[in-house]
Amino acid sequence: MNGFTYYSPTKVVFGGGSERDAAAEIRAFGGSKVLLVYGGHSAEKSGLLSRVCRTLEEGGLQYRSIGGVKPNPRLDLAEQGVKLALEYGADFLLAVGGGSVIDTAKAIALGATHPETRLWDFWLRKAEPKGSLPVGVILTISAAGSETSDSAVLTNQETGEKRGLSTAYNRPRFAFLDPELTFTLPKYQIACGVVDIMMHTLDRYFTPTEGNELTDELAEALLRVVIRNGPKALEKPDGYQAMSELMWAGSVSHNGLTGLGALTDFATHQLGHELSAMFDAAHGASLSTVWGSWAKYCYETKPERFARYARNVWGVSGGEGTEEAALKGIEKTVAYFKSLDMPVDFSSLGIGVQSKETLRELADRCVFRGERKIGHFRELDREDVYRIYRMANH
Ligand code: NAP
Ligand code: FE
Repeated sequence: MNGFTYYSPTKVVFGGGSERDAAAEIRAFGGSKVLLVYGGHSAEKSGLLSRVCRTLEEGGLQYRSIGGVKPNPRLDLAEQGVKLALEYGADFLLAVGGGSVIDTAKAIALGATHPETRLWDFWLRKAEPKGSLPVGVILTISAAGSETSDSAVLTNQETGEKRGLSTAYNRPRFAFLDPELTFTLPKYQIACGVVDIMMHTLDRYFTPTEGNELTDELAEALLRVVIRNGPKALEKPDGYQAMSELMWAGSVSHNGLTGLGALTDFATHQLGHELSAMFDAAHGASLSTVWGSWAKYCYETKPERFARYARNVWGVSGGEGTEEAALKGIEKTVAYFKSLDMPVDFSSLGIGVQSKETLRELADRCVFRGERKIGHFRELDREDVYRIYRMANH
């Protein structure tokens, strides 16, 4: 086992109806004036939002709210949230929703703590966060894992950039995980979630680092459970068993546990973010679109790692050699995404075949115009990134 720091301080309360205790938890973490953040219509339609408001009122908490967070959440709404939080004097952020809502709440919490700093500068690494307001979560979709992660992803619509910011200040204080709240999810969102949960672990599993037996086997177990439960969830979105397994897997997949001791990769996430920024593609769909191309481009760096993945996650056994097993694992993953009706190339993502110039622009943005390379399993420069997009461009 290699050295690591594991800091996953979020209190998780799991189970049906658990969010009734939200007011008590907010108080326990020092909140009294709450800014409640939510998304489009799902939480209003399901009645969750009014239940949460009632809980806050009954708990004697004051609150204001800001709604309308869109998937691939926008910087400008977060900036409005910061203004509101400051005017109101909010001392706690409560996110009711998925990754987009949670990330917006994290951004508001950071911004309200640094009113003198331009919010986007944190995402551009021009400013260093020195603290944040506490954030709590009532989760409604199993996917991003933001409820336990240290990351927040925002899109700056003016510049066309989608970027993540990781800092320990982004860790939520608590997360209520009530699987029943996910029963209203459309199948497309469930499938996007399954892909994202898998990818948070795959982006850690494909690493140049060796010798983390427990980390590797935890990762493989998580992947098997998610792969098994994905189709069950799609068949019966109001089935507690499958939806609850996905929910817990979503949190564990991105709280750091499945990558301890490893140098993580995350190239697939960087490749996907550019598709979301340019085409407003749903996050999970952007990842399944590029993963197969990334894997085929990179597996030769360490085919034995891909062969191990094929054997331990997909049950590929038989007498194949390393190379053959590696390729079978990739094929099975891509076929699984298709079986969930997830896109595996640009056409199935619905953006059509793109021009060479667009692919070059995507690649250029992905490496920050040459300022960085992406990935660690195999380090990728602008040309590599261009080639991977080209492989997915059909
Ligand atoms: P999301 O963008 O928060 O929500 C996706 C859609 O699902 C929305 O249209 C939302 O509708 C709907 N929805 C949510 N809960 C629902 C429910 N219970 N019933 C019906 N519809 C529901 O999804 P997400 O995948 O969780 O988050 C994606 C974002 O997180 C992306 O920007 C991605 O880059 C980011 N991300 C962040 C992290 C991190 O650690 N911070 C990690 C990975 C990804 P309403 O708006 O109407 O509620
Ligand atoms: Fe993700």
